Amino acid sequence: MKTFWAPHAWLRREGGSLTAVENDVRIDVDAAGRISAITPDSGPAPQGATVLTGLALPGMANAHSHAFHRALRGAVQVGSGTFWTWRDTMYRAADALDPDNYLALATAVYAEMALAGVTAVGEFHYVHHQPGGAPYTEPNAMGEALIEAAARAGIRITLLDACYLSSGFGEAPNRHQTRFSDGSAEAWAARVSLLKERDHAKIGAAIHSVRAVPEQELGAVAAWAKERQAPLHVHLSEQVAENDACLAAHGVTPTQLLARHGVLGPRTSAVHATHLSEEDLQLLTDTSTVICMCPTTERDLADGIGPARRLASSGCPVSLGSDSHAVIDLFEEARALELNERLATQRRGHWTAAALLRAATEDGHASLGWSESGRLERGALADFCTVALDTPRTAGQPPQLGAEAAVFAASAADVRDVVVGGRVVVRDGTHLSVPETGRALNEAIGALR
Ligand SMILES: [Zn+2]
Repeated sequence: MKTFWAPHAWLRREGGSLTAVENDVRIDVDAAGRISAITPDSGPAPQGATVLTGLALPGMANAHSHAFHRALRGAVQVGSGTFWTWRDTMYRAADALDPDNYLALATAVYAEMALAGVTAVGEFHYVHHQPGGAPYTEPNAMGEALIEAAARAGIRITLLDACYLSSGFGEAPNRHQTRFSDGSAEAWAARVSLLKERDHAKIGAAIHSVRAVPEQELGAVAAWAKERQAPLHVHLSEQVAENDACLAAHGVTPTQLLARHGVLGPRTSAVHATHLSEEDLQLLTDTSTVICMCPTTERDLADGIGPARRLASSGCPVSLGSDSHAVIDLFEEARALELNERLATQRRGHWTAAALLRAATEDGHASLGWSESGRLERGALADFCTVALDTPRTAGQPPQLGAEAAVFAASAADVRDVVVGGRVVVRDGTHLSVPETGRALNEAIGALR
């Protein structure tokens, strides 16, 4: 058993859904890595307790990641271009990956996530095979590298293994995409079924997009996830061109095509969901599909602003992801939801800080199958982080406004401590197993050039 003590913590009020900042909070963790007791107003830190800094928050879930996209940061900001020219650059990075260099890169990227307060990542993984498409001797060598990387960085992972079979509607994979493809959904399912869950790792499914999985194969991926009650994620309507191509090929929108094959539902996360028709909105609402927003990537790629507020108001849970890792900062993702709405509507006050934190924590974890994490309460997994309230960005307000300060002003650099399953992963802003995280990123990304 371990004891932690935080000067402040963002807690749910006993028996209610309202959250508030409480003071002098003692957090007891049992040998299984769960919170056995949580006690506000507990007095000074007890002897032997690990004393945390600032405001304790539940661990954050990065619900949508492609770890290798981290290698593109900065490089894709030179000159102009579109989503599609960005994608060409991304494919060149994918060409350079192998299981060893991906392990090194993903370990450093997940360490960066841990430093940002992330305790679980949803890794939407599609670089499965060797360049050219031949399988590795270990058919899941790349997925295993990602699972191992999360272990080394001390965070939980849901490996969302993506079915990726075509380049577009009725088009074979191009030369970059051959290593993404298993040839059929059946072969995809046979390979993914070999992956084993671990204490820190869950296995989920993904449909890359309606561009990448032919209509007749969609049902097989949905059935695999349904049989295992596993999370199912899908990129949805990120670009208008995807909708136009789907309408031309099938006469329906991507959302309608997914609905036709049983892909939507409460275990499913629709990633981006940017360009939707009224009927699409209704289908997502009727099926309680989770909406995963990635605002820093969506603005980086000039995707547009999706109807997250409207979908949330009609009952769809919302999660957040850093996707292409233009930045890795869940506070930035969270406030972008509200700030985007302000720009689009010329009004303020669409999302409270508490609602945004819930998306970044509880609902994000649930979308990845970690429904016992993302809350600071008795019985939950002991996954939490702290944000300092005395930095140049967060100082100046009473701790009772700590949630607002964190969501609307903090950066990932203000995260001080991160605990996953009761184990300290980040202490006073340093990652304990990857202490030189910047250097690890430099070396791993440099090795791809
Ligand atoms: Zn993505």
